[in-house]
Amino acid sequence: MTFQTKGRYDLVICDIDGCLSPESHAPINGTALEEIARHNRQAIQKQDRPVVTLCSGRPIGFVECLTRLTHNTRIPCIGENGVWIWRPADNSFECEPAITEEHLQVVQDARKLLRLLYQPSGVIQQPGKSASVALYHPDTEYLRSIVPKIANEFQNRGWPIRVSMTWLYINCDLQHVNKGTAIDRLLAETGIDPKRTAGIGDTMGDRFIAERVAWFGCPANADAEIRKSAAYVSSHHEVEGVLDILEQLST
Ligand SMILES: [Mg+2]
Repeated sequence: MTFQTKGRYDLVICDIDGCLSPESHAPINGTALEEIARHNRQAIQKQDRPVVTLCSGRPIGFVECLTRLTHNTRIPCIGENGVWIWRPADNSFECEPAITEEHLQVVQDARKLLRLLYQPSGVIQQPGKSASVALYHPDTEYLRSIVPKIANEFQNRGWPIRVSMTWLYINCDLQHVNKGTAIDRLLAETGIDPKRTAGIGDTMGDRFIAERVAWFGCPANADAEIRKSAAYVSSHHEVEGVLDILEQLST
């Protein structure tokens, strides 16, 4: 399955939180998503512009839903920071083959430890993750304060887990899995040339996208660190920024 367009790029790999939808629990801008759906229908029918696929830390079911809402029927999407790929062409899911039973056991042990340490203070483990843990607390400052402690606990036990913070969540991911390793799988199976890919992201987790693609852009709300990787920073926020970036890529 190869996909090539007449334009400069064949594929745009786009983060979700802070890009397609707010990272908070605010409503999703459905009208703007419909714009992206229109873009994708055109891309797939006429092959005159890049298809937009999604690459997110969210559980794969959430990514599948947004992929279907944005009418990408061709190119796989990525969930759980690279753990899962979902293929809209044949409805198949694939877990990263380098995740072993031992890795899954470490994640279960980490879940148990994190419940023990932080459930009493109201830290919630986001449901729907299968080989990683995402932590949420309404007090983001408190959440940020426990990041180094969690990283220490994992290090002391020799667990191969990377601890990082988005705007509102702590992500605990297996060290050898990230958005970039999944992008490698995606490009290998679709035959898409990395030189003909673009990416969009808003936090440092998206450096794994920026490192893989030929061109990287950010919406206005992106954090200062990730902007350094961007060829273009939109003056528009979140999904309006993504629509602006898509326009830049098509001209
Ligand atoms: Mg994001």
